[in-house]
Amino acid sequence: MHLLNADLHSHSTVSDGTLSPEQVAARAHANGVALWALTDHDEVGGQARACEAALALGMDYLTGVEISVTFAGQTVHIVGLGFDAEHAELTRGLADTRGGRERRARDMADDLARVGIPGAFEGALKYVGNPDLISRTHFARFLVEQGICSETHEVFRRYLTEGKPGYVEHRWARLADAVAWIRGAGGVAVIAHPARYDFSPNEEYALFTDFKALGGVGVEVVTGSHTVAEYQRYADMAREFDLLASRGSDFHDPAESHTDLGTLPDLPGSVTPIWEALADKVIRA
Ligand code: AMP
Ligand code: MN
Ligand code: MN
Ligand code: MN
Repeated sequence: MHLLNADLHSHSTVSDGTLSPEQVAARAHANGVALWALTDHDEVGGQARACEAALALGMDYLTGVEISVTFAGQTVHIVGLGFDAEHAELTRGLADTRGGRERRARDMADDLARVGIPGAFEGALKYVGNPDLISRTHFARFLVEQGICSETHEVFRRYLTEGKPGYVEHRWARLADAVAWIRGAGGVAVIAHPARYDFSPNEEYALFTDFKALGGVGVEVVTGSHTVAEYQRYADMAREFDLLASRGSDFHDPAESHTDLGTLPDLPGSVTPIWEALADKVIRA
């Protein structure tokens, strides 16, 4: 069970990935993934397609989502796994969370225009698969297309992040609400890529403490955006907070993403894999 090739974090055109849910399923399966979850940002519109494609390939499936949350003034991502994707409170909460994205995108475009980059709203929109879900990733692809940056990671170093052109502060869901929507729909909540936040040690401790008190059960330990040292650090945090450990590539696109589906190292032996507690939520092929 420990060595199961589970990939429980990935994106499709339903949010800011470039492959359809069916294409992500096929790629995961081709790479040897045995248990997969599609976790589009703030959106479960791809879940039925993803599940159907997984089962047709003989791959087990967990429903998934990655919810944008504001905690201590920063954006934190909470992954939900193994929930009922049609649960009304969850889908309503996600719709509210997505709601401000168009206004934000227009403000981002206005800010980019002020530094001499016109037309970014329309430019980003060309890359959007789901009109409800315009994200910074779509702006990043437009800036690369324009030759302003050579790849999307450079965009996030020079633009779209705090203090840089094109950054617009935004208030996402509350941590308590995101965890409650996931739990209410029968799923489990997981802190996504914890090493990617810019928290002080006290703020990080507060995030883990509050998350645990709200009924959160997991933390991503092995993810495409952690270093090997960070696997160890968050394996230790998982043990300290009695959280289960998750593993997921955070795949978005074959060229853009550093980590392909199903290719990460296994979880450290010191943690309990989250899938060991999800046996009754897995939709089996
Ligand atoms: P948004 O939800 O619109 O704020 O966009 C967040 C998305 O931008 C993340 O899910 C990533 O796909 C992407 N992103 C954020 N920071 C970076 C980065 N440093 N490098 C590449 N992609 C990034
Ligand atoms: Mn993304
Ligand atoms: Mn994320
Ligand atoms: Mn993600």
